[in-house]
Amino acid sequence: MIEIKNLKKAFGEHVVLKDISLQVNKGSVVAMIGPSGSGKSTLLRCINLLTVPEQGSIRVGAQDFSFGKGDKASKPLKDRELAKFRTNTGMVFQHFNLFPHMTALENVMEGMLTVLRKPKAEARAYALELLQKVGLSDRADIYPQRLSGGQKQRVAIARALAMRPSVMLFDEATSALDPELVGEVLNVIRSLAADGMTMILVTHEIAFAREVADQVIFMRDGVVVEAGPPSQVIDNPQQAATQSFLTRFN
Ligand code: ATP
Ligand code: MG
Repeated sequence: MIEIKNLKKAFGEHVVLKDISLQVNKGSVVAMIGPSGSGKSTLLRCINLLTVPEQGSIRVGAQDFSFGKGDKASKPLKDRELAKFRTNTGMVFQHFNLFPHMTALENVMEGMLTVLRKPKAEARAYALELLQKVGLSDRADIYPQRLSGGQKQRVAIARALAMRPSVMLFDEATSALDPELVGEVLNVIRSLAADGMTMILVTHEIAFAREVADQVIFMRDGVVVEAGPPSQVIDNPQQAATQSFLTRFN
């Protein structure tokens, strides 16, 4: 489903991702953990090409991009290819960037109308279905300003789902929320996992990662230090760096 090979990314002299390879099977959930600055967000951004890596390859479903020296790998990305690729990889950020002048429903409809060019009635029907899925049927006509943080984040999830992505990427989707609002967003992610959605989550919620992830990846200094099922990486880490990181959460 997703295959990343030998990914390298540097900002100037600073190498942020050093030869990252990973594979995510269809329907599986991967949790990425690691200290601040380890490259988690950069890796996630590379996976939907918000950030373009210097070297390596990224495949999501049938779409394949290679980067680096030599022949066809170095040809510039076409905007249309990029746009198509991005709709296929739904991204949810820490800060919900909803359009403030649009209702919850209009926010969810927007991409379907402008990017997918769906007829309005169809976009509206699917947006309402998605709002119901995230538990916000009764908030459809409310503007973001009057939604709680957890509600805004659930609208952001519905908006990403509206593009019918084959994978959802979450970058600390609950980190900016008041503690009492975290649960409602985790519940939505849980239900997506139960539906078989392929997901990569960057998270500091270790208990949640243990519960929902098939695979946990521990990153440090741009390297995957340890990867495997939660029973291994979280409950029985083999590397000293993983052990020391996890003691903070106990
Ligand atoms: P956190 O847990 O704090 O979110 P992270 O693991 O997501 O951290 P990244 O945001 O991927 O880490 O950053 C990895 C490194 O890359 C950091 O040292 C950061 O300063 C650097 N970095 C990230 N984005 C840029 C950028 N646009 N320009 C320059 N350096 C950057
Ligand atoms: Mg980050």
